[in-house]
Amino acid sequence: MTTTHSLINQLIQLQELIVANMQKRVSQPNARLDELNKSISALSADLPQQVKSHFNRLLQKHPEAIVPIANDLCSGCGMAMAKSLVQAVHKADSMHRCPNCARYLYYPEQLVAREKVSRSYGEARKTGISRFTSPELMMVKLEGETGEEVLAEMCNCMAKEGFVEDGEHLLDLALQREAIISTAVDNGLAFPHVRGVEGGGLSMAVGISKKGVKFGGPGRTLTRIFFFVVIPTATSAFYLKLIAGLARTFREKEARDMLLEANTDEELWKALIKTTKKTFN
Ligand SMILES: [Zn+2]
Repeated sequence: MTTTHSLINQLIQLQELIVANMQKRVSQPNARLDELNKSISALSADLPQQVKSHFNRLLQKHPEAIVPIANDLCSGCGMAMAKSLVQAVHKADSMHRCPNCARYLYYPEQLVAREKVSRSYGEARKTGISRFTSPELMMVKLEGETGEEVLAEMCNCMAKEGFVEDGEHLLDLALQREAIISTAVDNGLAFPHVRGVEGGGLSMAVGISKKGVKFGGPGRTLTRIFFFVVIPTATSAFYLKLIAGLARTFREKEARDMLLEANTDEELWKALIKTTKKTFN
């Protein structure tokens, strides 16, 4: 049983690295990817041969080769899964694949608050960046002294505002993700995230640390602007667009300064809307 669990985790990690690689390429065109590529080869080296070749074959077709079951559907292709298969995947005593798209399947974390899901469907159509975030997820005064403390503050906020049910569990997952490879990029930005949660929409909290924290960024750069994103599988495609757009916008010092100069959460919200207006419409 533990071997299947660790194999699933290994595939999820590998997929994270591959996505991180794509993400770095869109957000930092000149980034050196040697480290990342080394980690990818290291992680795939000890996969069972059969799993490895199937995984690589899947990756040539889709960016995601291992996906969670969501509401008894394969979240890769949308096919309804037989109850017996759902149970088998939940039990995880061996690897299972979708009978339709052949992706590997796993049983997801229950994280997204259901109440929030139904509420968001009833709202008027949103535009721009407000499709992905909302005023109550602005955190202009992060107080944490370390990366972990900052992430804890952001996870608490997401839970307090009802975007996820369990803030502590969210923090564990975010730290696990950060341990694979740091999500910090140039210019004092970071994109910590948790992927593969079940249901709901993509939601993003924006946090500012005026004095900055060490977050594994390039060189000794301190990270000051955090975009923390919770990503249900169905929204993965939006995620890369979101990150690419944010990285492009905040490559400009002027745009970063507008966020950093906000003194209240409301000012931060307005600055975010204003700076990203042309990027997301
Ligand atoms: Zn499928």
